[in-house]
Amino acid sequence: MSDALIEKISKLKAERNAVILAHNYQPPEIQDIADFTGDSLGLSIKASKTDSVVIVFCGVLFMAETAAVLSPQKIVLLPDKNAGCPMADMITAEQLRQLKAQHPDALVVTYVNSSAEVKAESDYCCTSANAAEIVGSLPEDRKIIFVPDQHLGRFVSEKTRRQLILWPGYCASHIVITDDDIKNAKKKYPNAVVMAHPECSELVKALSDQVLSTSQMLRFAKDSPAKEFIVATEVGMIHPLSKQRPDALFVPASEKALCHNMKKITLEKLLWSLQDMQYRIEIPQDIAAKARKALDRMVEVLPSK
Ligand code: SF4
Repeated sequence: MSDALIEKISKLKAERNAVILAHNYQPPEIQDIADFTGDSLGLSIKASKTDSVVIVFCGVLFMAETAAVLSPQKIVLLPDKNAGCPMADMITAEQLRQLKAQHPDALVVTYVNSSAEVKAESDYCCTSANAAEIVGSLPEDRKIIFVPDQHLGRFVSEKTRRQLILWPGYCASHIVITDDDIKNAKKKYPNAVVMAHPECSELVKALSDQVLSTSQMLRFAKDSPAKEFIVATEVGMIHPLSKQRPDALFVPASEKALCHNMKKITLEKLLWSLQDMQYRIEIPQDIAAKARKALDRMVEVLPSK
């Protein structure tokens, strides 16, 4: 069944001149069929550099929006129109405008896990990998608003020793991991290296050996001599890590760390997406131009990223 589906998807992909992107948290069969896997921004940048006409983003809405902002000339499809990100939805453009009005002299740094409208209201975008560098590069005398993830924000604040005006957003799939989960996993695997995503709670991060984005986890595990890893992020991450290091054991810190939105994408939906050219993600030009500016400013600060 799935072989036939995979064949149909590959055939249609070629006919449509499409590129398939899959986030690291996607189901294994989706990651395995994708042209590129990785984090949301890295994938959008890669796709923008291909000569494909269509981008199918197997991920959630804000990711497809970012791809559409970076590739305005391409058709961007999200296979399930209901695959959203609850954390991105925790702040609207209007709420950010109100926050900016309360702090008119503040610069706004927005995590890529946000809507295009919210990015458009921001001075800089950042990823979980470069957030501290972006914040650290800003003038000392400027206040900084950081949205939407409070946990990434606290991590950045601690790293840069800068006070940030935080928004109370969070990722439910990450904060479900508890300090007890880490303690229990450590008891079971005393030699394991603990890698935690910055979206985890402060207690979990404090108990971890490394705090890393998904791309950083892959790089770190690739070069590490360790044979066992406890992984405190969405459980989908176990697949690319194990694929890259089949000689090592990767254990999820909690099986509950599951993003249901990420798992909405199936092979069938991917096929239908290519068949029906759905669901097309289009960003109004003015919003896209402003969001693009915030993304470009991030790249200017970090030219090598
Ligand atoms: S894992 Fe969290 S931040 Fe990522 S898409 Fe799911 S809800 Fe959003």
